Amino acid sequence: MSRLSVVLPAYNEELMVIKACRTLKAVLSLAGIGYELVLVDDGSSDGTWNRIREASKEDPNVNGVHFSRNFGKEAAIMAGLAQASGDAIAVMDCDLQHPPETLVEMFHLWEQGYEVVEGVKTSRGKESVMHQKSAGFFYRIMSRATGFDMQNASDFKLLDRKAVESVLSMPERSMFFRAAASWVGFRSISVPFQVQEREAGESKWSTRKLICYAFRNIVAFTTIPLQFVTAGAVGCFCCSLVLLVYSLVRYFTGHAVEGYTTLLIVLLFIGSAVMMSLGIIGYYIARIYEEVKRRPRYIVSKIIHGGDKNNEETD
Ligand code: UDP
Ligand code: MG
Repeated sequence: MSRLSVVLPAYNEELMVIKACRTLKAVLSLAGIGYELVLVDDGSSDGTWNRIREASKEDPNVNGVHFSRNFGKEAAIMAGLAQASGDAIAVMDCDLQHPPETLVEMFHLWEQGYEVVEGVKTSRGKESVMHQKSAGFFYRIMSRATGFDMQNASDFKLLDRKAVESVLSMPERSMFFRAAASWVGFRSISVPFQVQEREAGESKWSTRKLICYAFRNIVAFTTIPLQFVTAGAVGCFCCSLVLLVYSLVRYFTGHAVEGYTTLLIVLLFIGSAVMMSLGIIGYYIARIYEEVKRRPRYIVSKIIHGGDKNNEETD
């Protein structure tokens, strides 16, 4: 019988771990799906790891991976995928904002032969208008750059083992799972789902973190900011040509363009445009530097396998 692995990244989710494991056990057992849960503790500072240990004692199908520090959700997803042993592997949030019932629907689609089943948000839950608009803008850029429709994309996905192996074979350090799962190809289908309210704990994403995350992924997956720099340079060049012709005409007609103010404005404008462009190019160089260092994406400090009697000694 086919087995489903569910990867759940968890960062400071002590209030949700046990609940998520019990809910998934109930839903998947009811649907008659053989399963394994892989909870990845992304260096939590609360009791998440202890809850994962408790959950794995309660249910031998629960496994846990513990990071040496917080490496971020993308790293946690990668570690979970590497650890999962199922024929189909799903990724979902540990806070139950991704409905477990949809997981069953996704599994049935996989049984029908779809190799990448993508959860697409129909509503974005209780996000602010500002958040929704900026997410819309970000996914429009990503969709254009990757050639895949990424509007309302989420990390809630179910992948065939083949697709997971392909994602894991991508060597880059800055991974963006949502884009990577589309990039690998395979026969795919979308499943709409409603983002649920978070039952306990709080979102780990501040506005600043989200902006950094968006910019990082745009740089990791696209060259759009560099095209923007080039377009800006062409625009500046055209403006300066117009200004040059205008100044020459004025000069030869005896009304030389006066001025300190004009000079100052032009200098400041060009200066800031150059600095901005250098900043963007510098950001790419920083990312390249990070990639060439080839450091591991994450460091695992402990692993527990549910039902393993030696857990007490090994973790
Ligand atoms: N998460 C993680 N590492 C982090 C931040 C978040 O593993 O550094 C996990 C978190 O525990 C949750 C999922 O990623 O299972 C989604 O996080 P969150 O609920 O904070 O995001 P939101 O739903 O608000 O987008
Ligand atoms: Mg959440």
